[in-house]
Amino acid sequence: MQVYEHIKQLLTLQGAKHKQGRHTEEADLSIIEDAAVVVDAGSIAWLGKRSELPSQFSHAPRVRATGSVWIPALVECHTHLVFAGDRALDFSKRCGGMTYQQIASSGGGILSTVKHTREASSKQLLERAKRSLHAFAERGVACVEIKSGYGLSLESELKILETIQRLQKESPLELIPTFLPAHAIPPEFKGRTHDYVSEICKTWIPEVSRRGLAVFFDVFLEDGYFNARETRTLCEKALEHGLKIKLHADQFTDQKGAELAVALHAQSCDHLENVSPEGIRALAKSNTVAVLAPGASLFTGTAYPPARALIDAGAQVALTTDFNPGTCPSHSLPLMMTLACTQMQLTLAEALVAATFNAAAALGKTDGYGTIEVGKPVRVWQVEAQTYQEIAYAFGETRGTSLQSPITPN
Ligand SMILES: [Zn+2]
Repeated sequence: MQVYEHIKQLLTLQGAKHKQGRHTEEADLSIIEDAAVVVDAGSIAWLGKRSELPSQFSHAPRVRATGSVWIPALVECHTHLVFAGDRALDFSKRCGGMTYQQIASSGGGILSTVKHTREASSKQLLERAKRSLHAFAERGVACVEIKSGYGLSLESELKILETIQRLQKESPLELIPTFLPAHAIPPEFKGRTHDYVSEICKTWIPEVSRRGLAVFFDVFLEDGYFNARETRTLCEKALEHGLKIKLHADQFTDQKGAELAVALHAQSCDHLENVSPEGIRALAKSNTVAVLAPGASLFTGTAYPPARALIDAGAQVALTTDFNPGTCPSHSLPLMMTLACTQMQLTLAEALVAATFNAAAALGKTDGYGTIEVGKPVRVWQVEAQTYQEIAYAFGETRGTSLQSPITPN
């Protein structure tokens, strides 16, 4: 047992939990000033004001947490971190004026990463991915969702999902695997999207489900990729096989993706830069979390998602880096919080809840993450700061240390 004391601010997020992460106000961060936390066998046994520490804990060893703000560990709910090669050339083309879609049709884009990923060995994929996980851990993250989607053949998609499984054996972070075979149409199926969708439904989904290699199933619903009808077919098959749904939707064009995500009871609907007013209303009335990726907008120089409209309508909004080699090679959720505040007009409190409680909700993980409360395992980011406002203020340079009990992966 240990008593951590002199915590400058302890943000339990009890209020945010009570409101399901919607319409967050600063009071919902449930801040305790000059706090103490008692940790016993990896779980929180007591928390409150230091002056109110019960006498039964007064003889336990003390740790001075002076100069730190405690927040729930960050949750990264959307990444593509198993891949090979980089896309620096794409970036230079984009800086020269080409669009994402023009680069994709000239041999760059997702398919260039697919080529490198197919050629890479499992060991190469594993080593690169480990560096990414380390970078996330250094920036306060305790739980990371990882998508496949740079293989696009059964063999190479399995190679990616198995890499995630191996990563979990070595990583102190909890990893949530997502199967994303419909990320792009592979070269072998060019002009035959229907055949590719049938193949995924007939063979790939049953195989991945049977082997327990994924929790979620995801589709890139977009003009030139997979349309709403194909997305629905794929997702219904995945649901039949026990996978839960996430969608990449309404990123470049409004495809009524938000409405479809809600109809499919998706855990989250991600991107939404071009979501319609009807899509916003549908999300607000649902339990589907709206996951926003301001880093992708920054990096590609495109419009930001309508975060303010989503939050004001009552949607549960989460933040992600969308870490991937093409549109956001950043591991910093605190930087995404800054972007959310400066570019999407979130308050600091809304941004903080979006990167913790709501990001956990986007993975169905609020039991283990997103709040600091008695009885829960310790999953805390101890930020070197005097106030929580410094986290987004520090512009991606927030420093801190993680405090977390070992995970028991599913
Ligand atoms: Zn993505």
